[in-house]
Order: sequence, then C-alpha cells, then structure tokens
Amino acid sequence: VRTSFLVPSLASLSDKELSSWKEIASYLGVGVRTAQIWERERGLPVHRLPGPRGQVRARVSELEEWKRSGELNRHTKEDSPTKTHETPSPTEEARTFTENVTNSAGVANPALANEGASLLPARQGSVSETGNSARLPHTRRRSGVWLLAVAIVVPLLLSAGWLLWPVQRPSLWRVEGSTLIISEANGQEAWRHTFTEPITPEMYTLRYNEARRKILLTDLNGDGANEVLFALMPAKTGAFCAKLLCFSNTGRLLWEFQVGKAVRSATRSFEQVFGINQFGITTVEGKPHILVASKHYLYFPVQVALLDTSGRPVREYWHSGDFTQLLIEDLDGDGREEAYLGGVSNAHRAATIVVLDPASMTGASREPDPAFQLQGFAPGKALRRLLLGRTCINEKDALYNVVHEFNLTPEAFIVDVHEKFNPYTLSSFLHFDQKLRLQRVEVSSQLVGEHEQMERDRRVAHPLAQDLAQLRSIKEISY
Ligand SMILES: [Zn+2]
Repeated sequence: VRTSFLVPSLASLSDKELSSWKEIASYLGVGVRTAQIWERERGLPVHRLPGPRGQVRARVSELEEWKRSGELNRHTKEDSPTKTHETPSPTEEARTFTENVTNSAGVANPALANEGASLLPARQGSVSETGNSARLPHTRRRSGVWLLAVAIVVPLLLSAGWLLWPVQRPSLWRVEGSTLIISEANGQEAWRHTFTEPITPEMYTLRYNEARRKILLTDLNGDGANEVLFALMPAKTGAFCAKLLCFSNTGRLLWEFQVGKAVRSATRSFEQVFGINQFGITTVEGKPHILVASKHYLYFPVQVALLDTSGRPVREYWHSGDFTQLLIEDLDGDGREEAYLGGVSNAHRAATIVVLDPASMTGASREPDPAFQLQGFAPGKALRRLLLGRTCINEKDALYNVVHEFNLTPEAFIVDVHEKFNPYTLSSFLHFDQKLRLQRVEVSSQLVGEHEQMERDRRVAHPLAQDLAQLRSIKEISY
C-alpha cells in the first residue's frame, strides 16, 4: 500500500529561474566572471534568449544537476599539476581520485579515467624514495588507499557502462533560431539539427518546457543512450500543424508523427491543424510508449494519442476542450500508470481533470451539446472525468476556469486553477489525495483581496466562504 506520492516531476515546485549573470553568479556564490568562465569551460547550463541583448537564463534545478555532475569540482588542466606537486594525505588522494572518475562519468570519456588511474602508482613510487623508518606503515597505508580506490572506481565504471561499451548520452538541449542543439552533460555538443522552416522560439525555453513539454531526452530503445523527442511547432502556422519528431542519439531523424486529424461535430468541422500541448512517456504492456496531447487551433478539441517507440499510433482519446497539463503517474498505486490531464471542458464550461488508462482509453468524450460532441467515434472511455467548481469571480469574468498547473508533492496532488485570466494570480488550489478525493481547497491571497474589494464595492453580497463551498462541489461524469 502506497502511503506517499512518488515525486519525479516535482522539482518544479521549488525550481526557480535566474534571469541574469548577476543572479546566476550570486546563486553559485562566485563572481560574474567566474560564472561566465564556468559556462564556457565547464558546461554550466546557461541559456541565451534570442535577440541582440544576449539575455541569459538558468534554472536552479539545472544548476544543481550540474553541480552534482561534478563539473564544479573538476580539476582543469591548469590546476591539476598543482595538485600532483602537493603531497596529499591518503584520504585526500583517494578523494581526488574518485572525484576525477565521477566527474568524467558524465563526460563518457574513458581517457580521463585512465589519466586518474595513472596517478596512484606514480605517487607510490615517490613515497618509496623517502626511505625513512615510516616507510613500511606508510606504504601499507598507500596500498590500502589503492585497494579502496579500486573498490570505488570499478563499480563506478560499471555503472557508467564503460567497461561494457562507450555510449553517448546527450543530456542537454537548447534551441537557437531554427536549430536544435543537443549536448553532453559537460556541454560538449553531440549533434545539431537545423529545421528547414522557422520554429516558434518561445515554445523552446526551459521554463516553458517545464510547464508545457516540447522536448524530452530519454532512452526509448533501452540502449543506454538518449533519443530526443521534439515537438515541431512551425512559426509559419502559429505553432500549429505540429509534428512530434524522434531523433536517434546521434541526431538521425527516426520518425515523425503529424498530430491531430480532421474531425467534426454536428455544427462544424475541424481540419488537421493541431499544436502539441504536452507529451510524456508511459509504460504499456511493459514497453515504453509516448502519450501526446494536441489541440486544434480553435479552442477545442484535443487528441490524446498513444504512440509506440516507432511513432506508430496505437490508440487515441478525444476530448471536447483543452488539456494544458499532463501527469503520468501510478497515483492510486494499482501498479499501472494513469494519465492525468487537466484543462477545460468547453461544453460544461468548467475546468476539468480527466484520468485515462493509456492501455484502454478510446473514443471521444460524451458531451451534452451536439455542437461539442465529436462524431464518428466510439463512446469515450476514460477512468475519471471531474468537473471543477468555479468562484463567483470566474463566473463574472470568464466563460470557464482552467486547470493551469499540476503539482505533485509528497502530501498531495495539487491542482492550480486559474479563476481570472488577467491577472493570472487569481487562482484556486485543489488538494487531492492518491484516489483523487478532494482534501482541501485554497485560494490565492490575491483572490481573497479581490473578493474583499468586491464585497466593499457591493458587487457581491456573499462571503468568500460561499465560493470555497462551490470549489468543494466537484462533479464527476460517470460512464
Ligand atoms: Zn464570491
């Protein structure tokens, strides 16, 4: 029985974006110049915005990952000679040695490991030259260190896969103009691909990718190297007519999937002009698959397609609305992953959460209004369909509220719902448990303030408690 959530995607909660060299340097506790040198020489993950001003961005999560990769403590060619001239204590020596190896593990460069390994015998030689009474215990201590080093290093090499075969594991990405650039963890470029048509640059910032995934580096075929899934959003068509592309670890285009398809309701037809909202990886029958949610350029519908790792569509589910959020997790702990999709139901005029079983989802959502009911599909098969309550502010201001963000914390599955679209800070927050039972409702302080103002201005004649009650009344569409 699961008692807590697993939290793979929730680094995003505490993640922060740093938007200048000053902020980045200050976060790292160094000067701006040092940070810039680290970017150039040690692969510090800094992203440049397009445009002449050369603005930079860095995400705290990436900086932390970079620190963990060991690049920060890596001894460069300049400072390693100094180290070898010192006579470090055995513990220092062992530490230096393992650092070298762990650092180069991310680099996938066996030459560096050999360089590290050669340090120890050379030093043992220099120890024996001292020839004093302390020689024997000293040497013994040294060989102990050597054994210790081997004990540490061999498993490291094994886990890095070097003793088996050298593989490329590109792990960083950036988009410059119409070029996708994929790099190793140390910043060394692995490959690049220039698209023949302009792509929509704002779709490919790190920040945007975190909330609305457009790029994913993941090992789809289990060979230890990362393939790259890339949502191609052409600028010419306003990011619509999108395709999901899959590149090999060396940058060869393996396949592409044109999202969406021409569909119709009783009152209108929809051409195959869809943009990619989100995608993710899920396991179906023991094999990785790709789940991709794509929205028509009008306000609905959304296609949720399940693809195999060759890009072939396996099944699909259609939703008459929008899905901005996708979370793939086994929240209920039944041993199978569910897909949690958040957005809006247009026909019901409310924010919605839909839970799909990627292995059995099918058809089109059942809608009360023929204008929204997609035709020619089997009745939609979803695990759950929740319609969320609205505040009076949303009812006055907009046609519907919209799920803006999913946050999975160790305590709860928190759904951030936008109640007003300008400003965006007017949110309600619904806390669910693993079975999607509502535990708690909160609203942003800005929403509280707005409601108080409306009460003072006599634009509403009820307390906020009434809105909280509305938010607690979640409707479920049953099948
Ligand atoms: Zn109210």
